[in-house]
Amino acid sequence: MKSYDLCECGAPLRLMERPTPKPAGTEVLLKVIAAGVCHSDLHISDGYYDLGGGKRLKLADRGVKLPLTMGHENVGDVVAVGPDAKGVKAGDRRLVHPWLGCGECAVCRRGDEQLCRTPFSIGVFRAGGYADHLLVPHPRYLFDIGNVPPERAAPLACSGVTTYGALKKVGPLLREEPIVIIGGGGLGLMCLALHKAMDGKAAIVVDIDPAKREAALKAGARTIDGNAPDAAKQIIAATDGGAWAVIDLVGATGTVQLALDSLVKGGKVIVVGLFGGDITLPTPSLPLRAMTLQGSYVGSLTEMAELLDLVRRKGAPDLPVGTRPLAAVNEALGDLKAGKVVGRLVLTPAE
Ligand code: NAD
Repeated sequence: MKSYDLCECGAPLRLMERPTPKPAGTEVLLKVIAAGVCHSDLHISDGYYDLGGGKRLKLADRGVKLPLTMGHENVGDVVAVGPDAKGVKAGDRRLVHPWLGCGECAVCRRGDEQLCRTPFSIGVFRAGGYADHLLVPHPRYLFDIGNVPPERAAPLACSGVTTYGALKKVGPLLREEPIVIIGGGGLGLMCLALHKAMDGKAAIVVDIDPAKREAALKAGARTIDGNAPDAAKQIIAATDGGAWAVIDLVGATGTVQLALDSLVKGGKVIVVGLFGGDITLPTPSLPLRAMTLQGSYVGSLTEMAELLDLVRRKGAPDLPVGTRPLAAVNEALGDLKAGKVVGRLVLTPAE
């Protein structure tokens, strides 16, 4: 099989060839049809998260080993199944839930594999979909996508379930109050589409790039330039006194600060983005403003099932999706890094 692997942090992915694995036990082998390109792959290939103040969290210290086949937003066709893999057969087209845990600890047994202390996420800790084949350890990670085109379904595996999980954390206020989404990229436009599908009241998208604001505007949101010196004032005016919920899909020092500055008493900031940085927060603000500052990391198997149910009822999220051949993976990552991608790029290894 062929894959494009991260062999050295900061360097382009390298074409590798190795024997195609044969599924054993409960494993399932898929031919990859669609593999989304997520900004997290840029952080992974950098090899670290920016902790602010010159500090870095190295991915190697989190257990990420090279060479690594990245790619965690995958749809594939089942080509072979292990003897103990039940419920799937060759020819089935499936979305792959990549947020695997050990499957055995109390957290995993509660259904929160994405929070397992020994994660095995596909495309992060084990081989992902920047390849022509992908081995999945158990059929429970595979989801039927019905008649949703593979390139539209693939992003559900990360940008979909991540923003669905973040939107759920807003709670019932989603239907009553406008929400603020910081970052109108792949996750941002997905979040906007899901917010609509979940009957959200109204959305305000903050981005520093006019092209992303234009896409968000087209999708029905109000937009604000994140670089405007009075961005917080504009958010407060647009939310009639301050935001009840801000989902920060950038997660940089400036965006988290903007979110905190824009909040009404009792409001909530949900940080998803991993651009990095740090903040100083006066501790009395937490009780005096009754605020919640919460992180959100991908989603659970239950949330993935709920998301696919939502897609079946309301249709696939309508965001711009561009396709590229697998061999163009380095160009795709380069374009994403340069901020040139509106919506999501999806690789098509089977073509
Ligand atoms: P993307 O590159 O498609 O979009 C990022 C967007 O943020 C762009 O539109 C860019 O213009 C905008 N932006 C950058 N700096 C900004 C600023 N200061 N103010 C306002 N907007 C700004 O990236 P993506 O794939 O949507 O991913 C976004 C982030 O979310 C990444 O850091 C990624 O690693 C992270 N992520 C987190 C999770 C999680 O579970 N927590 C899951 C997936 C992705």
